[in-house]
Amino acid sequence: MNQYDVTVIGSGPGGYVAAIRCAQLGLKTALIEKYPTLGGTCLNVGCIPSKALLDSSEHYHNAHTAFAEHGIGLENLTVDMNRMIDRKAGVVKANVDGIAYLMKKNKIDVLTGVGSFVDKNHISIAPREGGEAQQIETKNVIIATGSKPTVLPFIAQDKERIITSTEALNIREVPKHMIVIGGGVIGLEMASVYARLGAKVSVVEFMDSIIPTMDRGLGKELKRVLGKIGIEFFFSHKVTGATRDGDTVTVTATNAKGEEVKFEGDYCLVAVGRVPYTAGLNLEAAGVQMEERGRIKVDEHLQTNVPGIYAIGDVIRGAMLAHKAEEEGVFVAETIVGQKPHINYLLIPGVVYTWPEVAGVGYTEEQLKEQGKAYKVGSFPFKASGRARASGDTDGFVKVLADKTTDEILGVHMIGPRIADLIAEAVTAMEFRASAEDVARMSHSHPTYAEAMKEACLAATENRAIHM
Ligand code: FAD
Repeated sequence: MNQYDVTVIGSGPGGYVAAIRCAQLGLKTALIEKYPTLGGTCLNVGCIPSKALLDSSEHYHNAHTAFAEHGIGLENLTVDMNRMIDRKAGVVKANVDGIAYLMKKNKIDVLTGVGSFVDKNHISIAPREGGEAQQIETKNVIIATGSKPTVLPFIAQDKERIITSTEALNIREVPKHMIVIGGGVIGLEMASVYARLGAKVSVVEFMDSIIPTMDRGLGKELKRVLGKIGIEFFFSHKVTGATRDGDTVTVTATNAKGEEVKFEGDYCLVAVGRVPYTAGLNLEAAGVQMEERGRIKVDEHLQTNVPGIYAIGDVIRGAMLAHKAEEEGVFVAETIVGQKPHINYLLIPGVVYTWPEVAGVGYTEEQLKEQGKAYKVGSFPFKASGRARASGDTDGFVKVLADKTTDEILGVHMIGPRIADLIAEAVTAMEFRASAEDVARMSHSHPTYAEAMKEACLAATENRAIHM
């Protein structure tokens, strides 16, 4: 029987990063994945394919709307969905092949099959299609089995017309009318893809705003801008059912007045969140305890109640984000060899890849108010940015929240062009506990979108933004 120092179950961004860091630290490592390709949700049916389609649809949308203003004429613009979806598949393949290469390079044994506990130190790996299982012995286990889409019990998803994000990444036609249940990150990203390609899109949301966990100002601005590409929002609507008749889907909901509302379309995307995935692990055999909402219970070292068994990523508490899972993968590997790593969860940024993009890090204004913290606000709109005017991306703003007394940056919330990259400056500044004045005094190259961060910091310190 093969013996390992560490066995990682699940090859998503949590699992494969944990495996690489373990190998770098000299630990004999195995990685178990039930699917034939590595990379988990993120690479196969999440972050990467959604961004490929967001980019493709953005090209089409720009060609339709923005090119004329730039003096570029186009005739007979068409969308070839087969080609777009095939390109996306190619992008996914390049990425998952890259992970397979990294496993080889780091001498990690990849074992394909469903991993389940025999006991705390023995794992069985069974082929998904059935057949003989193999067994390995291991000193430590890292559970990184991720999550799956939440199912609404009163909606039968046929995965053709009533679908999850996984199927929404594979539609080989432009829907006529897509009804999206849920105004969270995944729902809005997919809504953007299809609205840009010409579909009518209706977002039906239970709460009274989109992206409700982010700073409220961001949701308001995003709703306004997405309205411009034709996305309709129905807030405070409680969905009660969705049915399919041929190619027609009907979604029923109750609005704030208690009236029943019906939406008819050709696709219904159910995007109401994700739940931790532990099926098939046989956690009982190792005695691993769970906590509420199907998550695996871990302590501050991300260790379960069983010494030597750790859990990371979507399967434990915290934001369901790839970069959070990656940090935790490194954290656990370093913990196993006796190092003292640290993760600052407050500084895990949240990002939405709509256009404009949206991102936030640190405390929101609502949280600071709740804490009774004295803070000041500096804001800078992209319509005052030379770079944004040049590219025609003038929607959005950067908002910096700083401690009223010490000027330390407490939160940064942005909506605008290339914000998903720009938020890294805010994370760096906050990780070094910078004041708004510190950032305001740093040179930012001109003309760039990043200047908006400097200007917002200037605005936060005695209202001295230069270009506003
Ligand atoms: P996962 O990536 O879910 O990987 C878990 C792996 O474990 C899977 O491969 C699964 O097959 C395997 N597995 C499960 N059980 C077993 C078993 N018993 N044996 C063997 N293998 C098993 N996050 C971002 O940060 N940025 C984004 O832009 C973003 N976009 C997203 C878009 C969509 C449409 C979706 C659905 C998600 C998106 N996410 C994004 C979220 C991100 O994908 C997850 O947070 C991330 O993948 C979690 O990583 P993980 O390693 O915990 O688990």
